[in-house]
Amino acid sequence: MNTMIEVKELQKSFGSLEVLKKVSFSVSPGEAVAVIGPSGSGKSTMLRSLVHLEEITGGSIVIQGKPLVENGKYAGASDIRTITASMGMVFQHFNLFPHLTVRGNLELAPRTLKREKVAAIEAKSRDLLAKVGLADKADVYPSMLSGGQKQRVAIARALMLNPDILLFDEPTSALDPELTGEVLRVIRQLADEQMTMIIVTHEMNFARDVADRIIFMDKGEIAESGTPEQIFGSPRLERTRLFLNQG
Ligand code: ADP
Ligand code: MG
Repeated sequence: MNTMIEVKELQKSFGSLEVLKKVSFSVSPGEAVAVIGPSGSGKSTMLRSLVHLEEITGGSIVIQGKPLVENGKYAGASDIRTITASMGMVFQHFNLFPHLTVRGNLELAPRTLKREKVAAIEAKSRDLLAKVGLADKADVYPSMLSGGQKQRVAIARALMLNPDILLFDEPTSALDPELTGEVLRVIRQLADEQMTMIIVTHEMNFARDVADRIIFMDKGEIAESGTPEQIFGSPRLERTRLFLNQG
């Protein structure tokens, strides 16, 4: 198996509004793909579909060779759980549990799943907090943290279940500009470690530096995709050029 994510002719409508129009792409192991495009172009819906936070209306999604949905027909509930468990997602607004400490946020899901011993879960949360530079924040509550720190906690939490794939939906869009760097550094480190990732982002310099491939979405379609050199250096389409120039 050498494809981590295979999406074919993905269609999604909300009522009569067609949000994704036959979107097809694949992601290889260790690849970091950045998805860019105007607001409303379907980036979040595409990402959410991969982890079954949205139910698609047509097409196929195959994760590491296992069909989540094939020609619009979903796998059984237990297969869906297994397949989506191989992916971690990080949201724009962190989505931390305010009533749990940082460590509690990291340990909740693995403690609930009971697949690992408590001591191993505690050791892993310590290691991951150190990895994102927050070893000293284990016992504080999210309300005590800056936005950049909260997002680093959210990334550590996503890593607790050993995902094979990480999905980021505008991870720095809710942050003050001076706090984006600390979050982007963590994501860059994961890319350097060959984590397979899809990153929806408005940070064009970051996308250019870190991504192996850029997907430009517009009006529910992949308008253009290619290497950062191609997309930023010599975009094929006028609408890509216009989008890149407006920033
Ligand atoms: P992006 O992330 O690129 O900004 P989205 O995927 O959030 O785009 O949204 C794409 C389109 O789908 C937008 O027109 C949005 O209003 C619409 N949309 C998203 N979620 C819903 C929903 N739950 N119900 C109805 N329309 C939705
Ligand atoms: Mg979005």
